[in-house]
Amino acid sequence: MKIISDNPNNLLEKLELAKKQLENTKSREEKLAIWYYIYQLEKIIPCVDPEIIFEEMTDKDTKINNIVDKKCDVKAEKMIKNFIIYKDFHKCFLEGIQRKNAHELRSLNRYLENNDMNTYSSITDLSEDDYYNILFEFMNKIGLAKYFDRYIKGKRIYSSEKALVNGASAVLLYNPITKDSDIVVDRMEYDIFTMCSLTHEFGHIYDMNHFSRGIECYNNHTFQTFNDEAVSKTFERLFLDYLIENNVLKEEARDILFDIYDGNYQFILTSYIISLIPDKYIIDGSYTNLSPTKIYKLVERHFSRNDPIKRNINTYCKNINIHEIYKYAYGDILSLVFKGRIKEDNYNLDSLDEFFEYRGEPFSPEILKKLGVNKKTYVKLYKKDIELLKKQSN
Ligand SMILES: [Zn+2]
Repeated sequence: MKIISDNPNNLLEKLELAKKQLENTKSREEKLAIWYYIYQLEKIIPCVDPEIIFEEMTDKDTKINNIVDKKCDVKAEKMIKNFIIYKDFHKCFLEGIQRKNAHELRSLNRYLENNDMNTYSSITDLSEDDYYNILFEFMNKIGLAKYFDRYIKGKRIYSSEKALVNGASAVLLYNPITKDSDIVVDRMEYDIFTMCSLTHEFGHIYDMNHFSRGIECYNNHTFQTFNDEAVSKTFERLFLDYLIENNVLKEEARDILFDIYDGNYQFILTSYIISLIPDKYIIDGSYTNLSPTKIYKLVERHFSRNDPIKRNINTYCKNINIHEIYKYAYGDILSLVFKGRIKEDNYNLDSLDEFFEYRGEPFSPEILKKLGVNKKTYVKLYKKDIELLKKQSN
């Protein structure tokens, strides 16, 4: 089964179609949504085929860009306002979570050391058929086999030749008007890493396909909420658990899970540190103008003298974009809870429907409450997950 499409012309056709859509629509919200899609296509297509180069933008495009820029600014501003309103909530919620996580991770590391398990398994190069079959079986388990095949047979998965922008491992190109989408994987290899990236992107597709509100809401969700990564991260977690439970690439899946725990912890910790920085230092939606040393000075009093985190604040706090960090932190928190519910229901995704009711709304603690997500549930699930991982490692 051939997985990767080798014809970037399809993407060029989609770009032309999107440009026509941009000309034909009068709605500013639609312009913003399509513009973002075009912007992504023009960034990504040259990574897929380095021979394709796009010309400089014309005056007409510049005019559209100005409208879009203004809209983006307004939306980013709203997101920051929302962040500031709930800053105390974030501070309190994330502090407890980061402390418990740090504690569990220390215990996991001790366990690995005691059992001589902190060496990494080698990564298996799979045949295209094996690769397809593993992913197909997983998609089938979550009820999305047909969906998956539509992407494979429809040749909507591409590999980049050059590294993708921002060091992403894969990206979804989604047209919010036609609801059509393609996935580009960073320099495709047939191994567990790209499988994880693909399942993550399928999570985004599933999320978008269940996004039932209008285009304005779609735009808002891109700039304004911290929920963007919840479903994609849920898919990633479900996939790794599925591999371990079914003894498919088990050791590799376990190693990746260890890494994910570590990486996600850093997002949560950084989010907590961000919540400690006074509002006046936020400029254009980020703390990028603050040097790590300055951040250290601003937040150090919140940590005790011997706190090991304190020493590492400098490494966590570089180029902080609030939305980027928070969407992964809350994505981790929500996905752990969602994964548990879906597995309890034998990998049935229906329990996500509750989340889709609030999808597209700005972040609020009330939504977390309605979804049954609180510090206690999360911490309990986290501990249970790590214990299970230890058991499965034997
Ligand atoms: Zn994602």
